Amino acid sequence: MSRDDLAIQELANTSAAWTIDDAEKTYRVNRWGNGYFAIGEQGDLQVTPRYDQPNLKINLREIVDEMVTEGIEFPAVIRFHDILRSQVERLNRTFRSTIEEADYEGRYMGVFPVKVNQMREVIEEIVDAGTRFDYGLEAGSKPELIAALAYNTNKNSLTILNGYKDEEYLRLALLGLKINRNMVIVVEKFSELTMLIKLSKQLGVKPIIGLRVKMMVKGRGKWESSSGERAKFGLSIAEILNAVTLLEQEGMADTIKLLHFHIGSQLTDIRAIKEAVQEASLVYSRLVKQGVPLEYVDVGGGLAVDYDGSQSTNDSSCNYGLEEYIADIVYGFKQSCDLAGVAHPHLVSESGRAMTAHHSCVVTKVIGEIHPRGAEYSTRKATGEHIIVTNLRDIETGLNQDNYQEAFNDIAQLKEQAMQAFKLDVLSLEEMAKVETIYWRTLETIDVLAQQQEFVPEELKEIPEMLSSQYLANFSVFQSAADSWAIDQVLPIVPISRHQEKPTKLCSLVDITCDSDGKIDKFIGDEATGNPVASNVPLHSLNKDEDYFIGIFLTGAYQDVMGDMHNLFGRLNEVHIVSYDDDPKDFYIEEVVKGSSVKGVLSTMQYTPEIMAQAIKKEIDKQIQRGQIKPREGVNWIDFYEYCLDGYTYLK
Ligand SMILES: *Cc1c(COP(=O)(O)O)cnc(C)c1O
Repeated sequence: MSRDDLAIQELANTSAAWTIDDAEKTYRVNRWGNGYFAIGEQGDLQVTPRYDQPNLKINLREIVDEMVTEGIEFPAVIRFHDILRSQVERLNRTFRSTIEEADYEGRYMGVFPVKVNQMREVIEEIVDAGTRFDYGLEAGSKPELIAALAYNTNKNSLTILNGYKDEEYLRLALLGLKINRNMVIVVEKFSELTMLIKLSKQLGVKPIIGLRVKMMVKGRGKWESSSGERAKFGLSIAEILNAVTLLEQEGMADTIKLLHFHIGSQLTDIRAIKEAVQEASLVYSRLVKQGVPLEYVDVGGGLAVDYDGSQSTNDSSCNYGLEEYIADIVYGFKQSCDLAGVAHPHLVSESGRAMTAHHSCVVTKVIGEIHPRGAEYSTRKATGEHIIVTNLRDIETGLNQDNYQEAFNDIAQLKEQAMQAFKLDVLSLEEMAKVETIYWRTLETIDVLAQQQEFVPEELKEIPEMLSSQYLANFSVFQSAADSWAIDQVLPIVPISRHQEKPTKLCSLVDITCDSDGKIDKFIGDEATGNPVASNVPLHSLNKDEDYFIGIFLTGAYQDVMGDMHNLFGRLNEVHIVSYDDDPKDFYIEEVVKGSSVKGVLSTMQYTPEIMAQAIKKEIDKQIQRGQIKPREGVNWIDFYEYCLDGYTYLK
């Protein structure tokens, strides 16, 4: 059987049976999509941006097509403002309904932590969607506080102030109190308290104080060191009691309003939350019984996102949902407070990741394939060729269903021998090229033969991995998937269309930076093998004359703003999508935000593009004078340099 026959047979065996359900099993879109993403019947990815309007569906392919038509260059961020609003509403509504159902006496007064996505448009949208719930902001640094002062204009919501503070930070907080904002100054470190007492007396402003407890319970997941004795933030029980005594002595005991804890981000295991609620509610009720006038408990962040759709305690997943998280907090505090006979506190949470992760994605084009085989070399028999080459060729010609496992071992050995022979100067360059070509071609045929068997021997299971390709995509990991590079975060990577077709290539992704770390090789794992993280993702083979777009999803939290300037690629073009029922496509592009120009990124690095253009012009002029370049041609070269200075940093 020839290789082509085998390939055709394989296609016939598998492709006809491929369905949208198979695609769903491969990419688990429903499971990480949180109701917002799905694979549509036509094989395109679909977005349902409003959780309360399940019939409003946007075809992601149509957004990409419209961007192409409008000349918006890729890679680009697509931002769904409706998803942001939906998430804010979901969180607040679920807290409200759970509170009602539990007969809980406090209110929910959530805040969005600015550090998770500081983009103005994101903050504006969240504040706007949250106004009717009195949903506020949390700041963890001076610049974030300055932003919160200007943007959290709702006088009924809270502004929670975390992070280390200097005198200026505290003055800014007191400024907020002067203009009737509910600024809660959370004391992370004892020395902040003495500074705050002095300042508030000096300026005559009564503060609202929160105390952050250093929790004994350990978080679960990557950020578990945010709690425990070695935590960076928070007061020990001894320090909390000292703080209370100090404030009483200063006649400020009535300013202690809030108890705060935060045991880490992306809490993968619901048990960590249950334990934290139990511990914090005990601290709360004992302080209240002691006469401390606490009114609020802030449970911090940690509400996780199921990036890999496995609903497990994998680092990139979680074993609970929003409803369970909220029920554990509300019922946990209710039971504990009822038992202790103290009032239920108002509840604050600082969920950032869960609010923003789904609302943005990065879409880019695959622009090439790097295959281990590389290009083929003619393998025709030459007179007097080395026996290794002949032996390899014989194995390839004699390959069949009965001997493919033996062939697999033989070609591996022959390739090894060939490399030795090459080093000993026995094998020529040409012979080495033939060995490579025959080896990879034979391996591919063995793979096809193995896949037709019901039982695949263990050692042959590694062949797909050996044959996997690297797809070169026009993006920078350091800018658009920083968490994949820095902390091995798994992000869903899914083709925008062609889901009615079987993805036949196992791939990892490489970016266009000239850094060998510039790749993504952690993907949603394989449920069959129980491996939480896979090193490849199945993608479609590239067609000539057809663009292949892929999306990197769930990038709206942290990654969105943590990108760096590696290789001077800079920020991406962005489109903001708003859903609109009356539009034939159910959406419109509300805004296009241009990404970095070459000029822009160079200026941030202290270059002066005008001077650079002049330097090039001078050199060109010199060549013109010497007669090496014609004047018209010279002008074109200078124009081209300036055109590129103004252009996008990524590949065209
Ligand atoms: C980072 C942080 C948050 C946000 O946590 P998420 O897990 O993203 O919700 C909340 N509170 C504090 C104190 C933080 O440092």
